Amino acid sequence: MQIFNYQPTCPQCGAKAKKHTQSWWETSRGKYTGNLQIIRRKDETLTLWDGESYYMYAGYFCRNRCAIDFANDIINIRRRR
Ligand SMILES: [Zn+2]
Repeated sequence: MQIFNYQPTCPQCGAKAKKHTQSWWETSRGKYTGNLQIIRRKDETLTLWDGESYYMYAGYFCRNRCAIDFANDIINIRRRR
């Protein structure tokens, strides 16, 4: 997983990176008093975000499949020359 301080898009499929968030469980940790943004609240679980971090699962790609397809496309293009 790679973290970015901007929102990149996957070079293969164009998917936008997801927000890099963390969860906070009020039941076990009490009320959240930190300075991260609370972007979602479901029951007693908060989703916290620093306002700028995004992540890609596979380096610059959204998933392993995209990285593999991208690499194979490069080989195929080279072979056609
Ligand atoms: Zn992708």
